[in-house]
Amino acid sequence: MRFEDYITEHFSVSRVSMGTQLLLKDECPFCGGAGRVYIGRKNESGICFKCQRGFGAISFIMANEGVTKPQAKAILSGHTVGYQDLEEDEDGPENDFSVWFPPTVPLHESPDAMAYLTGRGFGQDIIDRFGLTFCNTNVQIDDKIYWTANRIIIPLFDAAGNAVGWQGRDITCKWKTKYTFLTRCNSSKSRVFSV
Ligand SMILES: [Zn+2]
Repeated sequence: MRFEDYITEHFSVSRVSMGTQLLLKDECPFCGGAGRVYIGRKNESGICFKCQRGFGAISFIMANEGVTKPQAKAILSGHTVGYQDLEEDEDGPENDFSVWFPPTVPLHESPDAMAYLTGRGFGQDIIDRFGLTFCNTNVQIDDKIYWTANRIIIPLFDAAGNAVGWQGRDITCKWKTKYTFLTRCNSSKSRVFSV
């Protein structure tokens, strides 16, 4: 079972960000706050902006069901019978990969971002192909602030097509750092796209 199927079976959701993300109407399994949990439909991960918690499919199911990591894996694989008997992994529970994405809007909602891309010769075909969106807010996770405002968000994928992070391209040209990154993989494995 895909994470999205698990979510839609257990929660009521609405589709946001051009249908690329699910917004949970129900409570966050980590903090109990409602209405602030976003889950990427392609990258099987998400973030709660109430408790600033980023998560992958496995850690979300662990929290939601109160189960161990191998049990959560079994649930995600569709094995709903007998999973309670699974032993804890020998490598421990904390190697769940999770990547979160900042909240974004479609690029056409930002005339500045569209002008930026058009000026560099990038059209709608490129926007669609690489899943480019626009972020107009900074994100704080715990005590770290990610300066994502006014950046074009470019998803990064591994060779298997899994989202492994993102880069945010500043369009204001006011920042010394043209790009901000979130990635947990070796960038040489990523399909990095520069705009
Ligand atoms: Zn939360």
